[in-house]
Amino acid sequence: MARYAEQVELESKPLRVGIAGLGTVGAALIRIIASDANAISRKLGRDIVISAVSARSRSRDRGVDISGINWIDDPVALARSPEVDLFVELMGGEDGPALASVTAALERGCPVVTANKALLARHGVALARLAEENDTQLGFEAAVAGGIPVIKTLREGLGSATVTRVYGIMNGTCNYILTRMGAEGIGFEECLRDAQALGYAETDPTFDVEGYDTAHKLAILASLCFGTEIAADQVFVEGISRITQADIRVAADLGYKIKLLGMARKSDQGIEQRVHPTLVRKTTAIAGVDGVLNAVALETNHVQELLLAGPGAGGDATAASVLSDILDVARDTWVPPLGVPAAELKPCERAPMRVHEGGYYIRLNARDVPGALAAIATRMGESNISLESVIQRPDLRAVEPGVDAESTRTVVLITHETIESAVREALTRVAGDGFIVGQPQLIRIEEF
Ligand code: NAP
Repeated sequence: MARYAEQVELESKPLRVGIAGLGTVGAALIRIIASDANAISRKLGRDIVISAVSARSRSRDRGVDISGINWIDDPVALARSPEVDLFVELMGGEDGPALASVTAALERGCPVVTANKALLARHGVALARLAEENDTQLGFEAAVAGGIPVIKTLREGLGSATVTRVYGIMNGTCNYILTRMGAEGIGFEECLRDAQALGYAETDPTFDVEGYDTAHKLAILASLCFGTEIAADQVFVEGISRITQADIRVAADLGYKIKLLGMARKSDQGIEQRVHPTLVRKTTAIAGVDGVLNAVALETNHVQELLLAGPGAGGDATAASVLSDILDVARDTWVPPLGVPAAELKPCERAPMRVHEGGYYIRLNARDVPGALAAIATRMGESNISLESVIQRPDLRAVEPGVDAESTRTVVLITHETIESAVREALTRVAGDGFIVGQPQLIRIEEF
């Protein structure tokens, strides 16, 4: 009875939200809370009000009306304010004010919602533990794949099913670049410039195009999938900056698209977490996810494959996920932040990349001399690599630094399933023979 009375009293009061960070996501959140006020109130039986906000510049026009909202300069003071029932962190950064303010809120038992994957990837386990110790909640739906409800699906939607593998496209910038390279025959640099002009890529795009952003998100997902600690520093990472038109065209002729995938699975060797460009058959569902869209596939023992696709970024989509976490807090639906209590998470034992098994696409700039191709094939055979096809493309001339297009020819080898260490060993020997110029291009093939 007491619990029911407490609930009624709780529900008659508005939930007072404090927001630190009023950029793309923060401003969109304020807009959506205002525009959806009636729907929120109907669904919850109580209102959500924004009681205080914080950002660096008080005078900046953010395109939303914050005139009636209390302004607190220091995000940590905002997190500690007694006027705030729920703290929303939308500043970004893995340490600094984001970590300090989220910690301050959790320490006083105030629930937190954040979209900050960098913070979660680095401090997620400690923050989950802190939330549990203080009997409060930590929501981070927006931190992985923006508007796609993948965290909720993993935490609550799959019941007792065991996830066997997770993979997906988790960076819209990379997917946009690879999609345009494939559709329009233009180079990586040109696509990147367009992505920057359109606001899809940062001025310094390293974090996105070299795969680190995907690695952060994958590490968070892997923890939820396998009940292990978040281990972003154990993800094997390769980005897309070395993908050329030659790769895109040869892959297309063979029936593949190239996607930057994040993939994690549990094997006898440990937890395999990898992010790299991948050849996927054009007929698969993941290959159809183009442009800035994201998709996450979950393979489980009960439902086989579940594919969730949608907008992975953008103010409105991300803010909608933040709001969905806020509604969960308002309803007082508590689940451990990482799916199981933090104390029960197992250490993440890393499966070494050299034991990865699969098919490989290998593009070489072979010297145009007699015997080069035969020598390369011999070296592959010596490492027990069986070749599915050998493709010579005189029409695709190398455009890589230090490679003379006139005296080399582009050779692509497609291997049958083999072990990564064997491929690396064979390529070292091929390079030692002096028949190739420049760095070989190695892209893993994934059959789904
Ligand atoms: P943003 O546009 O750069 O906005 C950051 C906001 O934080 C700004 O309002 C900034 O203030 C404020 N801020 C920065 N340092 C601060 C400090 N020391 N004290 C107080 N305020 C501070 O970033 P965003 O794109 O909205 O991203 C926010 C978070 O959401 C990040 O963790 C990001 O990874 C995540 N996220 C973003 C997207 C997306 O599509 N944008 C998608 C998924 C997740 P000023 O405005 O005054 O400079």
